[in-house]
Amino acid sequence: MFSRCLRRNTLLSPVSKEKVKGCVPLFVYETQEHFYECRGCGRLYWAATHKEHILKELSDMVEDIEGTE
Ligand SMILES: [Zn+2]
Repeated sequence: MFSRCLRRNTLLSPVSKEKVKGCVPLFVYETQEHFYECRGCGRLYWAATHKEHILKELSDMVEDIEGTE
């Protein structure tokens, strides 16, 4: 289970499933029940069987969004 953000080592906070709707891939939303948010950068995390794979995909997705940073 995650406890800290991989990027900034910030503690993650649990967020409700409803809150992340539309912010995570649909298959993740449909298959996961527990989500976590980094208060530092806003990145979302969730438990997954293939954690590293999912994280990489999410990371790539977020990198695009953060291009305006
Ligand atoms: Zn973060």
